[in-house]
Amino acid sequence: MWRKLRIAILLLILATVVQQVWLDKVDLAWKRNFYVAVYPVNMDGSAKVGAYLRTLTAADFEPVAEYFAEEAAPYQLELRRPIEIQLGAPVSEAPPAPPTDKSVLSTIIWSLKFRFFAWANSPEVGVKPDIRMYLLYHDPATQFGLSHSTALSKGRIGRVNLFADTGYHKQNLVILAHELLHTLNATDKYDLTTTLPVYPDGYAEPGKNPLYPQDFAELMGGRIPQSETSAEIPKNLGQTLIGDMTAREIGWLR
Ligand SMILES: [Zn+2]
Repeated sequence: MWRKLRIAILLLILATVVQQVWLDKVDLAWKRNFYVAVYPVNMDGSAKVGAYLRTLTAADFEPVAEYFAEEAAPYQLELRRPIEIQLGAPVSEAPPAPPTDKSVLSTIIWSLKFRFFAWANSPEVGVKPDIRMYLLYHDPATQFGLSHSTALSKGRIGRVNLFADTGYHKQNLVILAHELLHTLNATDKYDLTTTLPVYPDGYAEPGKNPLYPQDFAELMGGRIPQSETSAEIPKNLGQTLIGDMTAREIGWLR
């Protein structure tokens, strides 16, 4: 009995996954905008982070929607605002962390677990979201660095590590925008060992002369190249651009 039930559940998950893959492909035609839900999570379980989360409003995330509207403008998508962001109620549980061993099997199992988590933890927002981003807030006073954020294009979900402090908010939005584009098939354009943007696709202005210092970061390149061996973290979305390769990956440039 339990065995049959388990098989039935697995088949149901598989069917959903297959359907989702198909939907994901269709969607990138940009005939309609994407609705994103952002769900804050108090990762420390502390009163301090909880108090910060209560200060968050939809207006805090509006700059991300405006940023994508501006960046999309040159591509004439026939959509004034390709991305809409909705702030959902905080979620009390954290989504499963990605596996440390990076084996294919454990990655697949994790991605299924994460998708199940998202299915079970999606407080209602105005419009049913196409993309769900879990914003994992940490107290900057007790945590030195942030661990890696991850987002999946299959299932369109992300877990984004952020600092729970107004002073970090603008940088948080850069991380959110970067992870958001991963859910729309954009790839990283930086060297994973050095974190330096990869030339030319990870550069906002690869044709700039002289090449250094660059004035902007390519959103998926992550940093503003200062020289061949150094790059700075952008302070806000205004210091970032979406380059041609990223635009092509997300379906803006054909
Ligand atoms: Zn990335």
